[in-house]
Amino acid sequence: PQLANQIAAGEVVERPASVVKELVENSLDAGATQIDIDIEKGGSKLIRIRDNGCGIAEQELVLALSRHATSKISSLADLEHIASLGFRGEALASISSVARLTLTSKPAMQAAAWQAAAAGRDMAVQVRPAAHPTGTSIEVLDLFFNTPARRRFLRSDKTEFSHIDELIKRLALSRFDVGWTLTHNAQSVRRLPVADSESARQKRLAALCGRSFAEQALWIENQYGTIRLSGWILAANACQQTAACQYSYVNGRMMRDKLLNHAIRQAYGELLPAELQPAFVLYLELDATEVDVNVHPAKHEVRFHQARLVHDFVVQALADALAQAAT
Ligand code: ADP
Ligand code: MG
Repeated sequence: PQLANQIAAGEVVERPASVVKELVENSLDAGATQIDIDIEKGGSKLIRIRDNGCGIAEQELVLALSRHATSKISSLADLEHIASLGFRGEALASISSVARLTLTSKPAMQAAAWQAAAAGRDMAVQVRPAAHPTGTSIEVLDLFFNTPARRRFLRSDKTEFSHIDELIKRLALSRFDVGWTLTHNAQSVRRLPVADSESARQKRLAALCGRSFAEQALWIENQYGTIRLSGWILAANACQQTAACQYSYVNGRMMRDKLLNHAIRQAYGELLPAELQPAFVLYLELDATEVDVNVHPAKHEVRFHQARLVHDFVVQALADALAQAAT
């Protein structure tokens, strides 16, 4: 199982930001409304995620770390022939196979907190009582300490941290109902309280996309059958060449989808000179049966069953809003 875990780690754990992504997604799955992230040395020294979610029961701690051992692969050489491994249920096991991982948790109904620690190859998991409020903390120390080749692939602390910050930005733009903090080497980088009012949402938007975007962006909302589009878009005359805020989400997941990008660009049409970049934060919502978001999770691509319809709806909805803004 340890080999399988390290193989899966190659898929899931590319760099510190991928660890943060898996852990934060777990916190969101656990219903957390506050997620605090502490990073040291770009994440290669420490990644600590604390949430106030549902917690993990004492008797499930070890299971959470060790589930889904695969028996399909018996040697590393076999790995070359497998295009893609699923990694559902493998994140914690994978991460703990390439780092020193400590999991501390308390479900609301459990009297005390418990902690499980695992480090690398031997996977000897130790469980002991601990102090922790309701929720979960996961500490990942010394990422890739036992896979030096992988460790050498890490870029500078600054670069690795910028990937983490970008990830948190994307997530914070999709979950205004969650409070986020991010520190790097004990310095506060982001402090985003739960944004449950119009003015709080504007404030978060300004913090993440810049004041000028937040002040000038048009809020749009449109619906066609079961397809819904909402979000902020910058009128053509407000788009500058400086790094544009470009975020799109499909059913809550961040995407960099060709079809969507094409539709957005087409909506601007002649209004936006070719050398300028559109700026937008857009949320597309459609029936789960209308879309396959698992085409390529790493590439943020999505397959719409009615691609043409979705494309044309987005063009129309945005073009209408932009035309109105231009008059
Ligand atoms: P998956 O998320 O695909 O189930 P993971 O390896 O990421 O697999 O997590 C294993 C399990 O550990 C989860 O299914 C969940 O039960 C539990 N878990 C992990 N992180 C948390 C958390 N922050 N809060 C509550 N439960 C968690
Ligand atoms: Mg997970």
